[in-house]
Amino acid sequence: MTRVGLYPGTFDPIHNGHIDIMGRAVKFLDKLVLGVAINTGKGPMFSLEERVAIAEEAVQPLREKAEIVIRPYEGLTMHFAREVGAQVVVRGLRAVADFEFEFQITAMNQQLDREIETVFLMADPRHQALNSRLIKEIALLGGEVSKFVSEGVRARLMAKAGRT
Ligand code: ADP
Repeated sequence: MTRVGLYPGTFDPIHNGHIDIMGRAVKFLDKLVLGVAINTGKGPMFSLEERVAIAEEAVQPLREKAEIVIRPYEGLTMHFAREVGAQVVVRGLRAVADFEFEFQITAMNQQLDREIETVFLMADPRHQALNSRLIKEIALLGGEVSKFVSEGVRARLMAKAGRT
């Protein structure tokens, strides 16, 4: 059986915390689908096409460990998980702040689909505080983001911030 996982999120943009979680997930999965949610509600900085293209570049080093597929999606995560044949949904846990939200979503998702399990992974302490919103803010305010994102992502953030 091919073990397939879905890692859903907004990825606006993908950062080293996300890559850390993916690196852990591929230890027990054969294939990991990165589901890029359209999520216009969050007012993303990067368009869906840009977020997918950025992720394609950033996940490249993980491709020697497992099959990685980047797919945009709309609608319910559990429906998309079924569509891609995932047995597990992977989520990252940062701090207590993530817990309440993840707890509610997972409880609901369990009702929606009883066969698919959600697993939570923790990033290395160096990556635990990373968050797309703060990274974008730092880039816009002229700060250095190279510790938080890959070189390709940094270049795109600089371009958006008009700093190229
Ligand atoms: P969303 O907008 O749905 O929260 P994100 O793109 O911010 O999605 O993140 C996708 C997933 O990655 C979520 O499960 C989130 O908790 C997790 N994540 C984001 N940043 C980190 C981090 N620094 N460490 C661990 N998990 C993280």
